[in-house]
Amino acid sequence: MKVKVDPTMCMGHARCVSLAPALFESDELGNAVVIGDGSVNSKWEEAVKLAVANCPEYAISMIE
Ligand code: SF4
Repeated sequence: MKVKVDPTMCMGHARCVSLAPALFESDELGNAVVIGDGSVNSKWEEAVKLAVANCPEYAISMIE
C-alpha cells in the first residue's frame, strides 16, 4: 500500500502529521508531504486509515 497527498487540496491542518508522523511531515509552508515514496508498512496501516478519515480536505488517498 502507498499513500499520497494532493497538494492542491491540502490546507495544512497537520492532523495527518500528528496521527502518522512516520509517513507525513509538514513542508516549509505547513502543508503535508509524504515521507519517502509513501510506502506504508503494516505497522502504520491503521494510522494511515485514521489520517485519511480525519483529513477535512479529503487530500489523502491510499493506493493498494
Ligand atoms: S490533514 Fe489533510 S489537509 Fe491537513 S495537513 Fe494533512 S493532508 Fe493536509
